[in-house]
Amino acid sequence: MHVTPATTRISSSALKHNLQCIKQKAPQSKVIAVVKANAYGHGVEFVSSVIEEDVDCFGVARLAEALKLRSHGITKPILLLEGFFDEKDLPILAVNNIQTVVHNHEQLHALERFSLPCDLSSKVKVWLKIDTGMHRLGVSLEQVDEFYTALKGCKSVDKDIGFVSHFSRADEVQVNYSQIQLERFLKAVKGRGERSIAASGGILFWPNSHLEWIRPGIIMYGISPNNDTTCRQDLTPVMTLISSLIAIRDLPKGEPVGYGGAWVSEKATKIGIVAIGYGDGYPRDMPQGTPVFINGRRVPVVGRVSMDMLAVDLGVDSQDSVGDEVELWGKHLPIEEIAEKSGFLSYELMTKLTPRVLTEYVD
Ligand SMILES: *Cc1c(COP(=O)(O)O)cnc(C)c1O
Repeated sequence: MHVTPATTRISSSALKHNLQCIKQKAPQSKVIAVVKANAYGHGVEFVSSVIEEDVDCFGVARLAEALKLRSHGITKPILLLEGFFDEKDLPILAVNNIQTVVHNHEQLHALERFSLPCDLSSKVKVWLKIDTGMHRLGVSLEQVDEFYTALKGCKSVDKDIGFVSHFSRADEVQVNYSQIQLERFLKAVKGRGERSIAASGGILFWPNSHLEWIRPGIIMYGISPNNDTTCRQDLTPVMTLISSLIAIRDLPKGEPVGYGGAWVSEKATKIGIVAIGYGDGYPRDMPQGTPVFINGRRVPVVGRVSMDMLAVDLGVDSQDSVGDEVELWGKHLPIEEIAEKSGFLSYELMTKLTPRVLTEYVD
């Protein structure tokens, strides 16, 4: 007997393929590959080594994430997408070739006070973040000139200042808010430096937003930024989440399954127990009826998801055996469909996976 518990199967060829597709869509742009949150649950060390030669920079959200890349031997530039959080981090940025976004006065003042360690010649590369309508991070359109001039005057800051902004509705093709944000961005930058506004949605749906730098995240992993799988065209999912049947039981009609008896069989059937639960990051509140893929067909999750297991209705004619592989999402079952049915985002489903889930790297 052999049973594989909850495991992500990660395909390096899918990852490389997706990156090539993205580059074809934005042939003039350099690439900041976004690998925050453990590369969206795909394993940041693996992902970054596979794509390093094909990208120009990596994007992360925390200094610890950047340092993890460095300790793994990644040498390409790394950008802190939210900037640094502590003045004390600046020497670490300088020493490790980590670039930073600047979006507030506190960060600007810290940079003004900062002197490079005397044995260092390379200055800190800064991207000024402009709020063009997301209203989350960024300096206002009116503050851009003030920040730009001040950053230019910082002795420890690289003289080539980049500019970044972020779309709030890029995945909504019919909404023209992205066009408005783009126009505000271009007008505020006035050609003073390299620009980046397009994440996955911008890359797919707003070609004139590609500019000098694109910042692909979710599409690199082969997943649509909204739940529409048709728009991701030739992109291939990098992650397949699998587990296995660890028990199969006959269940008469009218019997409840799992905690709280939340599901009751309407007729005699066979129930399969799968070794994955909310302790692996499969959401406890995944709705009943969410499909899983087993032996070439879809069957529904029934009853409540437990910490280590969940139940599926295999049907009375089931020929399945203990040890058979079960796919929760991936190759045969688009995560977008699971996201759509469950009300979670694909982003959320992937980043919820816990360290208990095993990883298997293929091709
Ligand atoms: C996460 C993030 C991205 C990537 O977003 P996707 O929608 O996954 O492509 C790009 N830019 C910034 C600033 C981000 O925080």
